[in-house]
Amino acid sequence: MKAVTELFNLNIASVENLDGDINYSNIKYAIEDIDGKKYILKIFPDEEECILAKEESRILNEIGEHLSFKVPQTILSPNQQLFFQHPKGEAKLLNYIDGKFIAKVPHTKELLFSLGAKIAELSTALQKIKSPLLSSRILFWDIQHALLSYPKITFIEEPARRKLINYFFDRFQQIVLPEQPFLRYGLIHGDLNDYNILIKDGAIEGFLDFGDSTFAPIVYDLAIAMTYLMLDKDYPIEEIVPLLKGYHSLNKLSQREVELLPDLITTRLCISVCNSAEKKQLNQDNEYVLISEKPAWALLEKWVTINPIKISTAFLKATGYAPIENGNYKNSVLKTRRHTTGKSVGLSYKDPILMTGAAFQFMYDGAGNTYLDAYNNIAHAGHSHPKISAAISKQVRKLNTNTRYLFESFTAYTSNLLKKFPEKLSKVFLVTSGSEASDLAIRMARMHTKRNTIAVLENGYHGNTTLGIEISSYKFDGKGGNGAGSSIIKLPLPNLYKGIFNTGKEFANDAKEKIEKYIEKINSPAAFIAEPISGCGGQVPLAKGYLKELNAYNSSNQLLTIIDETQTGFGRLGNWYWGFEMHDIIPDIVILGKPMGNGHPMAAVITTDAIANSFNNGMEFFSSFGGNPVSCEVGSAVLSIIEEEQLQANALLVGNYFKKRLNDLKNFFPCIGDIRGEGLFLGIEFTNTDGNPDTALAEFVKDELKNNFILSGTDGPYNNVIKIKPPMCFTTNNTDEFINKFQKILQTKLPDK
Ligand code: PMP
Repeated sequence: MKAVTELFNLNIASVENLDGDINYSNIKYAIEDIDGKKYILKIFPDEEECILAKEESRILNEIGEHLSFKVPQTILSPNQQLFFQHPKGEAKLLNYIDGKFIAKVPHTKELLFSLGAKIAELSTALQKIKSPLLSSRILFWDIQHALLSYPKITFIEEPARRKLINYFFDRFQQIVLPEQPFLRYGLIHGDLNDYNILIKDGAIEGFLDFGDSTFAPIVYDLAIAMTYLMLDKDYPIEEIVPLLKGYHSLNKLSQREVELLPDLITTRLCISVCNSAEKKQLNQDNEYVLISEKPAWALLEKWVTINPIKISTAFLKATGYAPIENGNYKNSVLKTRRHTTGKSVGLSYKDPILMTGAAFQFMYDGAGNTYLDAYNNIAHAGHSHPKISAAISKQVRKLNTNTRYLFESFTAYTSNLLKKFPEKLSKVFLVTSGSEASDLAIRMARMHTKRNTIAVLENGYHGNTTLGIEISSYKFDGKGGNGAGSSIIKLPLPNLYKGIFNTGKEFANDAKEKIEKYIEKINSPAAFIAEPISGCGGQVPLAKGYLKELNAYNSSNQLLTIIDETQTGFGRLGNWYWGFEMHDIIPDIVILGKPMGNGHPMAAVITTDAIANSFNNGMEFFSSFGGNPVSCEVGSAVLSIIEEEQLQANALLVGNYFKKRLNDLKNFFPCIGDIRGEGLFLGIEFTNTDGNPDTALAEFVKDELKNNFILSGTDGPYNNVIKIKPPMCFTTNNTDEFINKFQKILQTKLPDK
């Protein structure tokens, strides 16, 4: 301290050693003289750090006197120098800025507005400064260079969290990076977190720590301040608006800058949590490094539940820009659709939803609402899964062709897919829809057995092709259908809830009898086709023992068993990867679809060597798109996500919880006739007081759930079953939300006491 005392003629009363940031080697002291005046002494043993510190002092001293708030000012030595020689290295003496961190005071609207204005003032001042030295820096905290933090994602232990960070980094690349070159650039503070902003007497006193100052789009300073001041807030979007307004009042933001803010904020959060994860792994975590970790995760997790339109509308309105108009837009989309397609192309709900986006188990409409998706099983791994987006875009840029050429994606995917099946099922044929797969499966069965007839289950659905409709009682027995054709044997759905028999065995014996009768009268059928749990039949698990019994009969009579796993496959049932495993059988042919490509058109037929050989009768099998390299990459991504995120285990855990909570409600609401299904493939059947199907109630509940922002659907022969089949990342919290709203809806239907 002697060097300082002599040089600056100070009468020092106390010296306190301040902990530095572990990323820097400088030494910091707080000094107080006998008159109570405070200073900060910074010593730089590291030469490079010292050069940067000198530049920082030059800039801050240049702008400092013109600002309406304080920034660290370096006290010149008697020979008018910013730095002086200290035994431990070059050093500078700074004035002390008094005050409380903004993190520690209430964030009133007025305070935030005034902070916004001060940041705007700082931006304007810094924009005038030229600093080739600071401008050449590349810092990982800088949002521009967010991708430098991307590799740290591996330090995040929970797969669901890695997915979330991947998703936001993906948005950064898609939304921010292309716009970045067109933004206003200047020097920025670079780290306006809530511990670098000081408040005194309820007003902004000043900003600290310009150590991350660099040349960047100036709106990034605002984005960073917004990020930290949104942490730990109940309504982060609404509560941060005054800050944005304050900034805009002094430094007018362009519409482009405002529109980028949401993704700049999430990107900064991603950098922060990646950094915390790395520090934890390296055991370099301390209170300061991890201070924002928990709230940062909480904010990111909350962010996906908020419709991006809602966020951009709030920010655009705050800055006087017109938000995207929705009402008329939706009507015009509906009107044009009526012109361009037939009415048979259905829409869900009387007042259909205009969807504009989705992430994981959430879907966003054009009006800024978020729906919890309890229905769309096609998005098996979750909507907009970043791994799947990456798989598509990477491969589509490289090669997309057909299966007449050799490429590795095909062999890799088919080998991995077959590993999921028993040895007997050893051949895969890739197509583009469940319907195409059903059609192909029937063709194969007919070719192999040289027979024609197909035994089907009541209310089964297998596809929209001519043949698909012929084997789908749901269609041929439904509106506009022509009934069963002559080469169809229709069997009762082995439903134990109000079915005609009480056991699977009885249903199976009945089925065998019906098939025998058909054989006596006409001829032997080629195959029997069924879903393990009938979806369109109303989420009805085939009675235990039914398929086992019938499959044994089929084998001994050279009938093929075809199992349609379009709805039930890929771990959805929780305890089983495939629905046929639940029934303890190995079918001859399996049909896959929907979840296979997470929305990318993919489906498959899986069968035995013998059936594949019979199918090879000289006619080539070719599907223009089936099994193309992009599809195969997507399929592989789906398989690996199921493993990595343990989605099957999640389906079991959340599905069991869901079922239990529904069963608890069943005790209170006599209108709930039955709760059934497995994993995340469940059904709620409604009955009226006579025990008959209550179609109107199911419709009412479905519509009310939608009005409460939950997506579901109805099905079954009487449309009185609510179907639950959400993306597999559905959580117990999501289940609670469903149950609470569902319960409230049913309560409105209880007779008044
Ligand atoms: N089988 C089942 C069991 C289905 O649920 C569906 C679709 N709902 C299909 C086949 C037909 O699939 P896609 O719509 O992909 O043609």
